[in-house]
Amino acid sequence: MIGKVYSIELKLTTPLFNHLGSRTYIDPHTYEDPNQAVREFAREIDASCISIEAIIGGGEFGDVCKGKLRLAGRTEIDVAIKTLKPGSSDKCKMDFLTEASIMGQFEHPNVIFLQGVVTKSNPVMIITEYMENGSLDTFLRANDGKFQVIQLVGMLRGIAAGMQYLSEMNYVHRDLAARNVLVNSQLVCKIADFGLSREIESATEGAYTTRGGKIPVRWTAPEAIAFRKFTSASDVWSWGIVCWEVMSYGERPYWNWSNQDVIKSIEKGYRLPPPMDCPESIYTLMLDCWHKERSNRPTFASIVATLDNLIRVPDSLTKIAPNRVNEEILLFESVEEWLEAIKMGRYGELFRKSGVTSMDAVVRLTVHDLAAIGVTLVGHQRKIINSIQTIRSHLSHGFLV
Ligand code: AMP
Repeated sequence: MIGKVYSIELKLTTPLFNHLGSRTYIDPHTYEDPNQAVREFAREIDASCISIEAIIGGGEFGDVCKGKLRLAGRTEIDVAIKTLKPGSSDKCKMDFLTEASIMGQFEHPNVIFLQGVVTKSNPVMIITEYMENGSLDTFLRANDGKFQVIQLVGMLRGIAAGMQYLSEMNYVHRDLAARNVLVNSQLVCKIADFGLSREIESATEGAYTTRGGKIPVRWTAPEAIAFRKFTSASDVWSWGIVCWEVMSYGERPYWNWSNQDVIKSIEKGYRLPPPMDCPESIYTLMLDCWHKERSNRPTFASIVATLDNLIRVPDSLTKIAPNRVNEEILLFESVEEWLEAIKMGRYGELFRKSGVTSMDAVVRLTVHDLAAIGVTLVGHQRKIINSIQTIRSHLSHGFLV
């Protein structure tokens, strides 16, 4: 009996701690007065400590700006400042600040850090660390083909580590996508955008169902779409989609298919194909994340461990998953057509000027030749050499007619 009373007391007095001994996320919506959650989880910053320098984007509630934060006794730092449009309703203000009271509970190198909020003067602001390279999807599209595979895998490792931390806090993100990951000048990826998230019912069940709300279909696990079963396992599905986005440099998952077509195809067992030049080991990991049965998907902890092993043994990333574009390369007769197919069409002119005008000449090229032709970016050299190696290996197997 004493034990029972004790356990109830323990439950009442230490709800912030889970079995791992770390803190557990508290849904701000469970506070009767949502302002209380903001006061508890976000530090109030005086507007005089903030200077706004430029508008860098538009959020749901108002402008997103770059600026400086100078706190007493500390050096000035770059910050991102989300502002609430003047004239917004109290409800909007509360929804806006909810993101801060969620973010303020987290502290991890791969989760956006909240500096604080300005609520006592207008405009109301949320101040976070500044991420020089902006959203991951836009960043990758602007740098197509420029990274080594190991750098991409490093980014994926960061995203998975951030998600492991959040899942251990019993926090389900529900909107993990490359557009909601931010990148800093060191290429560190951090989870952002805590707008769509909701609490999970209990640490033991680790799952919940709810009604209403928009669903980002292309990133969402089938059980979350069908009956709103959002769990860390559905976040793992989304991580698999982010993995595909990263390896394809920001391609839109399922291209221009309609949401209905995506849902139907997934239901029938279709899965996204390997992106161009994607290591087989990484594609296998994606497929594991897209297991129909959610209990068969890996956890974030095991994804991080797998990626750490791959990074430690870079040879494990050299075998490229066969991909339709890789296969189609074999059918190309002109150098221009081939370069276009591997998204390196910009070098057509340089190849022609250097006298590399047939696929026969292409298969004999080395990295040194590429540099001499004028392909100086290491990422592009690798992309072209990978493709040439695919062609060579098929030639040596006698596949090419
Ligand atoms: P959001 O409303 O969070 O989607 O932000 C809108 C846009 O502002 C994003 O797509 C980013 O390009 C930019 N942004 C948001 N937060 C930051 C940040 N912490 N550092 C740099 N840029 C950011």
